[in-house]
Amino acid sequence: VIVTTTVEKLREQITTAKRSGKSVGFVPTMGALHEGHLSLTKLSKNECDLTVVSIFVNPTQFGPNEDFSKYPRTIEQDSSMLESVGTDILFLPDKETMYPTGAATFVTVDGVTDYFEGEVRPGHFKGVSTVVASLFNIVIPDIAYFGQKDAQQVAVIKKMVKDLHFPLRIVIGETIREADGLAMSSRNRYLSSDERQKSLTLSKTLSLVQDLIVKGKSFEEALLEGKRFFAKTGEITLEYLDLVDSETFARAASFKEAESITALIAAKVGTTRLIDNVVITKP
Ligand code: AMP
Repeated sequence: VIVTTTVEKLREQITTAKRSGKSVGFVPTMGALHEGHLSLTKLSKNECDLTVVSIFVNPTQFGPNEDFSKYPRTIEQDSSMLESVGTDILFLPDKETMYPTGAATFVTVDGVTDYFEGEVRPGHFKGVSTVVASLFNIVIPDIAYFGQKDAQQVAVIKKMVKDLHFPLRIVIGETIREADGLAMSSRNRYLSSDERQKSLTLSKTLSLVQDLIVKGKSFEEALLEGKRFFAKTGEITLEYLDLVDSETFARAASFKEAESITALIAAKVGTTRLIDNVVITKP
């Protein structure tokens, strides 16, 4: 894997590849890589001639009381993982490269950011859409890959690409889980072994809600039962459990309003915030 830190150098490499007719796949990440990130990289390897992965812990998407400074940074391990799946270029910009001194331009996506992560983490999606727009302008990929794990982020990025006519396609990779069901996340490494056990409640609650809906229970009943099930486990605090239209992220009371519904969950396990989701299609 070629490690590139400047926009100029990266553009040179990408332009050369494009001139010889190569397609470019792009996977933006914040590092502390795991199989979820690698699965997106593999999708790109299968579909594109040149695969670019970026690692940038984006300060603007963290709130003042969030984990920006302690976010895991494991660059040595990350680059050998990327090497092992045949990544072509690792883009590793510093803060000054992504946000030149005095940078004052932001991208905000309204509506889809109103609730859930957008509500709990004010400013988070503004940071995400701004850095992703900037990375898209730097890389100009044919296809950009995102994980279903961050369902609302997917909805935000898709809306931004559509509204601003970014000349690229978005491909979503399925959520990669540990054997016991916990969705992989860079933040899982914050969990003690006891917390790691308790964090299973998130995926279990989602499975329960999904089962109930597939069996024909109303959305309201399914959510109530899900919340009851969640409440039985101690030391873990539910932030939200809800059912939304997968595209607009508006709360949904039944399938009438949407073809595809996403069940969303967010919870705090000790001091660690975890999110997960499952897509439920109309039976
Ligand atoms: P992050 O490094 O957390 O910003 O994530 C970078 C990309 O990897 C995003 O598109 C995430 O949605 C995706 N991702 C994170 N965790 C997973 C997972 N468990 N399965 C699939 N994709 C994931």
